Amino acid sequence: MKVNHIEFIYFDLWWVVIQDFSGTNKWDEMLFDLWLDTQWKEDFRRIFNQNVDGLSTWDIESWELIWILEKETAIAFPKYYNLIDDFVMRFEENKGIEEVIKEIQKTHKVWLLTNMYPWMFWKIKAKWILPDIVWDIIIDSSEVKMKKPYDGIYTYAEKLSWKKWDQLLFIDNLEENLVPASKLWWSTILYNPEKPEESNTKILESLWIIH
Ligand SMILES: [Mg+2]
Repeated sequence: MKVNHIEFIYFDLWWVVIQDFSGTNKWDEMLFDLWLDTQWKEDFRRIFNQNVDGLSTWDIESWELIWILEKETAIAFPKYYNLIDDFVMRFEENKGIEEVIKEIQKTHKVWLLTNMYPWMFWKIKAKWILPDIVWDIIIDSSEVKMKKPYDGIYTYAEKLSWKKWDQLLFIDNLEENLVPASKLWWSTILYNPEKPEESNTKILESLWIIH
């Protein structure tokens, strides 16, 4: 798909701009490092999933989630355990994306549209795994209190682009996050974490930056 009328590009952060847990066994490693047995792993996953929306919109803090986990399960976390630090410690750079975004930024506006947990963006920044990009706009779910894939954050993003929906391109590694964007007639690209090189080329080709 070539989309030469595009002016604004929204990038997802987790597994587009940096590498998160997707496609790795880092989630299991994290639970293993906490010495959780099979039942506790299930409890952790279930209670985490029940609270992930609240975490993404900063309606709860990560320590509150740990407190809920300790209260509702028999899990005992290490003293001073910080879930956000534990996540961020395991995130890595997506090497290759910086060059792509810098190339795009010569001719287009580059924005971030990301789900985020409390304090996490600053911790990711402090870890120096973000590409060296000055983003034109950053929409962080924990700040705007709306998250993907719910409609609100997309209409908010559209407002920030003066409703030029036909000039928006959104790149995310999850199909479910692209669906609401497509419904608003934005262009979309599904980023494949297993093939970052190929995905990077696809982005540049779609914008006619390379042919
Ligand atoms: Mg993602």
